[in-house]
Amino acid sequence: MYILVAGIFRNMRKIIPVPLIIFIFLLLFRGSAFSAATPEIRVGLTLTGNALELSFDSGYEIINTASGTPLQLSPGRYKLVPTQGGVKFLDRQGNDCGIYREPLYLRPQSTQPSDATFFMHNAVYGSEYRGALEITLAGGSLKAINVLDLESYLRAVVPREMPSSWGNYGGTEALKSQAVAARSYALFNLGARRHGGYHLCDDPLHCQYYGGKNAETNNTDSAVGQTRGEVLTYNGSLIEPHYCASNGGYTELPQNVWSSGLPYYQSVHDPYDDPSNPLKLSNFIVHPYSTWETSIPLKSLGSLLAAGGYGNPGEVKRIYIASKFDSGRVGELRVEGTNGSVSLFKQDARFALGLRSQLFTVKEELEPCVWVASATGTIETKNSFPELEGKWVAGGYTIKSMLTGERFAVVGDGVKGEVPTLGYVLTGRGSGHAIGMSQNGAYNRSRAGHSYLDILSFYYPGTDVSAVY
Ligand SMILES: [Zn+2]
Repeated sequence: MYILVAGIFRNMRKIIPVPLIIFIFLLLFRGSAFSAATPEIRVGLTLTGNALELSFDSGYEIINTASGTPLQLSPGRYKLVPTQGGVKFLDRQGNDCGIYREPLYLRPQSTQPSDATFFMHNAVYGSEYRGALEITLAGGSLKAINVLDLESYLRAVVPREMPSSWGNYGGTEALKSQAVAARSYALFNLGARRHGGYHLCDDPLHCQYYGGKNAETNNTDSAVGQTRGEVLTYNGSLIEPHYCASNGGYTELPQNVWSSGLPYYQSVHDPYDDPSNPLKLSNFIVHPYSTWETSIPLKSLGSLLAAGGYGNPGEVKRIYIASKFDSGRVGELRVEGTNGSVSLFKQDARFALGLRSQLFTVKEELEPCVWVASATGTIETKNSFPELEGKWVAGGYTIKSMLTGERFAVVGDGVKGEVPTLGYVLTGRGSGHAIGMSQNGAYNRSRAGHSYLDILSFYYPGTDVSAVY
């Protein structure tokens, strides 16, 4: 799901000062910075509902964490419900199997815990998981924390962050780059305290996409295995690794997207992700969003910005780019209206307007467009809207292009009578923040014969790849 990566790291900041990173490193690798032990990672699983639907076989036992006492529960499928005094266990038939005090621990009995698997049937991003499970009660809901070794975690992350099929088409080195970046990200977050009680969540929009055992593939398993223990360091400390789907041909500095900078990022032309293919590579892959176009309806723009907390320009009269960075990315987009002007700085323009990237231009002339503002109200269907073909339709956070002759629905009261309305057309390049590794650029570099070390040294200049276990 590399397209989803666009928004994954948008909220990341430099959270940990470098001396603390070194301290964490020393804690993790006590005695030697090159200990052979694989670190353990705690991953919070996103669930539907406030209960747990769990099944495990004879390779597991459930214990009370405080006392270490095993619960008298045979293998099988259970529903765990938060209740007065602890956690109530119900079997598959709904029979009451007792109430136990949390925290509880589902413990693999094998000497190779990562070989044992259990099922979490109401997990959102996976179903079968390796390792152990910690069960706690927080705010009336049960929380499930998967505890496993870092390498097993990565086997379930790399294939969700980058298509494993790339390994069949010359992308093996890109998969290895992704493995090193994802491992560095995970280790960096062992001390980042972005979550209470665990290190990372499985949500692709917040941390890395962790899909459990079902996500694993041969291509990504070998990319993880061949880079075992390897991370990106700068002056001997772990870096804060960012990556994105496609940079549109130009990398970016963190301070031009967020606020503070980091010394191992640069803003330079990336011919391996430039959709014009300046190197004229015969096997060049153009990212699906290397170029994009979207319409911003003039009439709704003021209320859209006000609703997003960006200020209220009133009825909008003009929008224009007030400043750009060397990369061409927009530093300030100004919106002028009857109430005054509103400035959208850096990534704010991207998120306020739902754009794929910060690298875009605005056409001066207004053009007809349609914006479906809500999914409530009446539905009007026609066989086609020829005046809209080739334009873009945005509803909420989804954007879709109109295809020639396509049948579609206009949804929502108030919209019906206003179609088409006038809007600004924005044309852009790339998908994501463009800081650090471009996954599409890494794929093209791999196909052109670059090693994963070459790929990483371009996207994280001045860094080293070191095996820490
Ligand atoms: Zn998270």
